[in-house]
Amino acid sequence: VLRRGNDALVETHLCDHNCTITYRGKATGGHYNCPAAFTLNRGAIASTTAPAELLLEGIDRVLRAASDAQLAFARDGFGAYADRFAIPDSLREPLRSTLIQEPREVALFGGSPEAHPDIVPILAGLQQRGYVTHITMTGRRAMRAAGCLDSLTSAGVSVIALSIDEVSSAPDLERLLQLTLAELRSEWRKISPLNGQRQKLVEAVHAARLWQQMPASGRPGLLFNMAVHGGNVAAMGRLLTALSTEFPRAMLNPFPMQSAFEGRRPDFTRDQLEDFREFTGRAIQEQHERAAGAAGSWGLVPRMHYWLLLSAALNAHDASSRLGGWTTWQCYRSAASGHYVQVAATGTRMLAPQPAGGRVGCFWNNALNDDSLPSIWHAPQDSIRKYLDERPQLATTGGAKCPGCLFPRLVGDMISLESGMDPGLCDSYLRLRKQHLAF
Ligand code: SF4
Repeated sequence: VLRRGNDALVETHLCDHNCTITYRGKATGGHYNCPAAFTLNRGAIASTTAPAELLLEGIDRVLRAASDAQLAFARDGFGAYADRFAIPDSLREPLRSTLIQEPREVALFGGSPEAHPDIVPILAGLQQRGYVTHITMTGRRAMRAAGCLDSLTSAGVSVIALSIDEVSSAPDLERLLQLTLAELRSEWRKISPLNGQRQKLVEAVHAARLWQQMPASGRPGLLFNMAVHGGNVAAMGRLLTALSTEFPRAMLNPFPMQSAFEGRRPDFTRDQLEDFREFTGRAIQEQHERAAGAAGSWGLVPRMHYWLLLSAALNAHDASSRLGGWTTWQCYRSAASGHYVQVAATGTRMLAPQPAGGRVGCFWNNALNDDSLPSIWHAPQDSIRKYLDERPQLATTGGAKCPGCLFPRLVGDMISLESGMDPGLCDSYLRLRKQHLAF
């Protein structure tokens, strides 16, 4: 959306939550700052939200350009990648073929996609085009209208992702998991609107309860995102056990809080890092169990390569920084590391109200902006394609800099992860890969 600035309208984000660590110098109870938080975006004009038909047109153009770039990599760049990362001959073709398989995946996140007035037509349009769609939502809409999940499901969403970030302790979550829908709504009404992360937690448990009541055969997948930080890492095993016991069919997706997004100093203590190492070891063990056909105790998303990179980061002398995303992985390190394309708002200034956003770039910083490209629903497909090729240069020559992260779709598939990994972690990672995956 656009926000009124001093002398112009400026693109920004719109959200009905406030996920910040402080407000006017006082702690809110949150553990991270989201650029879409409403206290950071006062004056946002909701009517400048881009409508469904523009977004669908733009997503089509971007995905065609991204598919073209990926095909080019599969044809011309994969061999060099496979040599560099010692991929055995027997695995090369199966791995390469994953790059050219349909369907494409669209992840709606950032701000609160469920709050978009056209969210149902957007999901229906994406389904009609054959895309798999994930929506990361807060759960507030379901708190206000019980039929919300049914309408998202009918529109074709594949996975609903909810945030379980702001748990003060394992007993705190275990208590919430015992509450009825009415009790959860009552608890939610008592939370300060400045503590968006706590609101999201209660909204998430409430939405998950509604999901559980839907017929298992027709409902979308459910995924819990969980930011791991110094305050909850020691309890993470118990938190995951509580969630997977209550929602045995849900997928769990814990990840370290990314201090690099905000340029904040990493804050894991020595003891917390030790807790993280133990937790990572258990997660790797669970990945083995699930690969062998066992149930596993937590229902983690199958992503062994990600846990191996976390393990390599924890072996580094600057483990705390690495976990926080500092230089660990960079989407712009090479063409292969950036399979996905992010579309966001980039702070473009305008003189009159109009549909805002639709800019290629990164949600968290401006390092990948291309100010010469119009919104994706106006940009020619070949210009978007050219942008994808030029993205690595843009990140190093543009004004804004990005220190890296460990995030987009949790660093993507194995090809993306390895291609974007800091070379300083490579030996350690490859030793772990040999130990756990035998190549
Ligand atoms: S590495 Fe890429 S996705 Fe991650 S914060 Fe930087 S620009 Fe954004």
